[in-house]
Amino acid sequence: MFKVQPLQDDLKQQLANAIKARKTLEDAYESQFKILAQFVLRLSLVCKGVDLELDNRLAKLRNELAKGTDLEKLIPFISDTNQSLQLLDAKQQRDIKEIQQQLNQAGKLLQQQKGLPDQLRRDLRQLLTNVAEPPSTVQAFLPHLTNLTNLYQNALQSKQQIENSQGSDEERYGHICRQISVELTNLLSELAFAEKSAPQIAIIRQSLLGNLSIEALLDACLQTITIIVASINEERLSAEHFLLKLNDALSSVQQAVSLSLKNADKLHLKLDILNQQIEQQITQLGQSTKSATSLEQLKELVTQRLGSISDALKSKEQLETEERQAMLVTLSGMELRLKELEAEAQTFRTKLAEQNFRSLQDSLTEIPNRAAFDERLALEIKRWQRYKKPLCIALADVDNFKSINDNYGHSAGDKTLKVIAKALQQGLRETDFIARYGGEEFVILFPETALEELSAPLNKLREKIKSIVFTFKSQKVPITISFGASQLTAEDTSRQVFDRADEALYEAKKAGRDRVILKT
Ligand code: GH3
Ligand code: MG
Ligand code: MG
Repeated sequence: MFKVQPLQDDLKQQLANAIKARKTLEDAYESQFKILAQFVLRLSLVCKGVDLELDNRLAKLRNELAKGTDLEKLIPFISDTNQSLQLLDAKQQRDIKEIQQQLNQAGKLLQQQKGLPDQLRRDLRQLLTNVAEPPSTVQAFLPHLTNLTNLYQNALQSKQQIENSQGSDEERYGHICRQISVELTNLLSELAFAEKSAPQIAIIRQSLLGNLSIEALLDACLQTITIIVASINEERLSAEHFLLKLNDALSSVQQAVSLSLKNADKLHLKLDILNQQIEQQITQLGQSTKSATSLEQLKELVTQRLGSISDALKSKEQLETEERQAMLVTLSGMELRLKELEAEAQTFRTKLAEQNFRSLQDSLTEIPNRAAFDERLALEIKRWQRYKKPLCIALADVDNFKSINDNYGHSAGDKTLKVIAKALQQGLRETDFIARYGGEEFVILFPETALEELSAPLNKLREKIKSIVFTFKSQKVPITISFGASQLTAEDTSRQVFDRADEALYEAKKAGRDRVILKT
């Protein structure tokens, strides 16, 4: 009994140990099973969509694991999944090669594009080297793919930019063309041309109103230059003509003078001889009278000698008369030539004065032009420096003038400008100075006027223009004008005050036109 008890205890203990060991084993198994089930679940989630076959197999394995199926029974599922994985691996190797080839091809294709930026070329070369390296997984290509996509995008963008900047003539040069066309219009309206080129100029100006191609614009420039050269030549010719006449006259005067000098020399010689003869006769007469023996003889001698003397004196007198006459002829000839020259000089002078006047007057509006303005501004600035009285500059620009030309034609536009110029000029004081600055822009100098005194007269001018009834194609069209003005300060150059007035004008336009803006 004694012995049985320990044996029983021992067995019990062993059983308890065995149960415990089994429990520990079962727990370990269960936890490993759980880990496995979780692992399969994660794996199937990660692999989901990579391969349908693999998806199915993993789903089945997951199911079995969830059911808590024996590991042994799981073996076929695992082996099936294993097979799928092997197949997948082979497929991936093929895919890797394929992607490598495709990336390489796409990169090479991009490399063949012309006009790629240098940096882009370098990046592309680097990418192709990277792509060529032995790949490990398909995913390893992902960054390359992203890079290549970026490079393609950049290349397309830079191509687009190049194409944009090389757009049509209108896109590339439209702005410059319009600027040139405005400048040329201004030039044509400012230059004083000979009457005979007026029709040609009208045609050029008309053509400048349209949207010109570069060729047409260059042609208009060329024609303008030709007209200017021709008129310069004409001026030069008329000056040359005058100089030639002057030269002629001077050489004929020179000839006349030298001829009369020569004649005088000959005459002196003749007169000398005559004088000697007379002297000789008188001496001889003296001697003869001494040797005369009779009164009769003396009388005869004296008569004879006196006759000779009187003959000599007569010839002397005649010679002198002839000389005087020749001199008179020469002199009157010279006088005639000088008179001709005088008349020629007068025409030339008038022409010069006319030319000078014309070059300071705007041919369309007949008010002073820009050159006249520059001259006057320089003068007013000198006065301003001397007398320190305020001086203001105002710029005026007709509002939406282009639409007048566009809707009613260029000559309607021209007439409108004439009317506006006249109205502006008449609305100013004697001491103010207005000029057409170009196009539909006018500039006004207000001497002895401060900026704050300008608002009233400028607004009066503005209202005056607004109140004119312009009728085009039997339609009443109101026209308005905007002003910008500024006063010259001690720190200013003439350019600066002008620019300020221009800024003010720009503000007036921006604020809706038909207004006056003063800027200090
Ligand atoms: P804004 O109110 O902004 O001044 O508009 P705008 O149309 O007056 O200004 P823009 O400068 O665009 O156009 C001025 C136009 O004036 C363009 C040009 O054809 C016209 N022009 C310039 N000089 C003359 C000219 O001597 N005669 C005619 N008929 N038109 C001219
Ligand atoms: Mg303008
Ligand atoms: Mg305008």
